[in-house]
Amino acid sequence: MSKDFLKDVNEYYDVVVIGSGLAGLTSANTLARAGHSVLLLEHHYQLGGMATWFKRKNGHIFDISLHGFPIGMIKSCRKYWTQEIADSIVQLKGVRFENPQFSLKTTFDRKDFTRLMTEDFNVPPETVDAFFTAARKMNFYDGQEMTTGELFEKFFPGRDDVVRLLMEPITYANGSTLEDPAITYGIVFSNFMSKGVYTFQGGTDKLIGQMKAEMEKNGVDIRIRCQVDKIEVGPDRQVTGVVVNGRHIRCGAVVSNANIKQTILKLVGEEHFDQPFVEEAKAVRLNTSSCQVYIALKQGESFDHCGDLLFHSEHKGFDIDSIMSRNISSRTFSFYYPETRPGHDRYVVVSSTNARFEDWGHLSKEDYEASKKDLCETTLDCLEKYVPNIREKVDHVEASTPVTFKHYTRHSRGASFGTKFEGLAVSKSLPEQIGGLFHAGSVGIIMSGWLGAVNYGVIVSNDVDKYLTPVAATV
Ligand SMILES: Cc1cc2nc3c(=O)[nH]c(=O)nc-3n(C[C@H](O)[C@H](O)[C@H](O)COP(=O)(O)OP(=O)(O)OC[C@H]3O[C@@H](n4cnc5c(N)ncnc54)[C@H](O)[C@@H]3O)c2cc1C
Repeated sequence: MSKDFLKDVNEYYDVVVIGSGLAGLTSANTLARAGHSVLLLEHHYQLGGMATWFKRKNGHIFDISLHGFPIGMIKSCRKYWTQEIADSIVQLKGVRFENPQFSLKTTFDRKDFTRLMTEDFNVPPETVDAFFTAARKMNFYDGQEMTTGELFEKFFPGRDDVVRLLMEPITYANGSTLEDPAITYGIVFSNFMSKGVYTFQGGTDKLIGQMKAEMEKNGVDIRIRCQVDKIEVGPDRQVTGVVVNGRHIRCGAVVSNANIKQTILKLVGEEHFDQPFVEEAKAVRLNTSSCQVYIALKQGESFDHCGDLLFHSEHKGFDIDSIMSRNISSRTFSFYYPETRPGHDRYVVVSSTNARFEDWGHLSKEDYEASKKDLCETTLDCLEKYVPNIREKVDHVEASTPVTFKHYTRHSRGASFGTKFEGLAVSKSLPEQIGGLFHAGSVGIIMSGWLGAVNYGVIVSNDVDKYLTPVAATV
């Protein structure tokens, strides 16, 4: 008989959280801490969404999205999770760029970037300072008329090399382009520039394990292998419950961590919304996806320190189309040393590239497998430049594509960084359409990535808490 993953589940919860990405986990934990009964439903067998890892024989562990995040994660984890989680966050000091225009190493913070831009790129210090100040001042409430490309043109006209330095890592990090609103760039870039790039020592498995323990302590009812098929809405346009694994569970509110478009158009159904809102949701553009190649060295093999994050490109200039193209010439290598997972003596490299679903989603099985093999081979060829004799040292290599991300996270087109900017307004106005329906998950570029997802989870939970606990009417 198949296992009942909903055994002993209650008939009613104050909140059902659909999905255990970092935003879903943080919402579930914050709401449980605030005293609400919370059911967390995850379709996969593992919690974490894209903050995930996998194991392979011979003791290899690969992290998927542990390449780097801004320092703000320390404060968010301390406040909304635990001191223990915050204490494992450490800085990555070796960020490298290797491309035909420049070769450099940086700590990826304002001080070091100022040095590079003034000394190596010969930009006047006043211009550098004015640029950083303008980027830092940007916030969500600013106008969105200026694009990132226009921002660069204003400060660094004709300087393709400077634009590459400033933009290439952000494009790799969240798929954003020069056409996206400048505020999305300003916010994400300034978050990194404040103190550099950070990682979670111990690996994603340790982080998610600690988060699970904390949620259990706070009373969250956690269920894996539970795919929600429907969010139920009453005639008065209030959320009434969910359908999961064929069972109805009632609730006072739903936080969906599934993609915003799927939440509206599939889980709820467009008939429950105002038509203009449905049109707005349909017009939201999904972000691009990713390919990765996971490379583990044989036990006992190692490589010299070649940096932590290496932005490699063979393209002459900065060209976003080539970054997204299947004909890959740009890769971000994450080098993992034994210090990444104290007690684990392995050396691992993960190569990431931005990718489009349409380049992978419609291949025949044979072409798909051949393309993945080709991706592994060309990545090893490229890595040879930084890790000599890599092919002799390697024990395991495999690739993932947008199809893989779609399969594991249920995101349409395997979108790895949510939606373009317009998705945020749709996500935020969801509760105005249906009482008790909330969305917390990667949207709008600024609410994606580990930090964006955690912080958005907190923001949305505060709204849910207010909805569930209306202030007593004053007499
Ligand atoms: C290759 C790659 C590299 C990345 N690198 C970095 C990095 O270095 N730094 C960084 O900050 N960010 C990185 N990111 C982005 C970051 O991982 C994500 O933005 C963040 O983890 C997303 O969290 P989320 O809460 O939006 O949800 P997601 O991680 O998207 O999780 C959503 C969850 O909902 C579940 N779900 C969906 N539908 C249902 C349903 N109907 N029923 C039940 N469950 C459902 C899914 O299974 C999933 O677990 C990377 C992403 C990728 C793909």
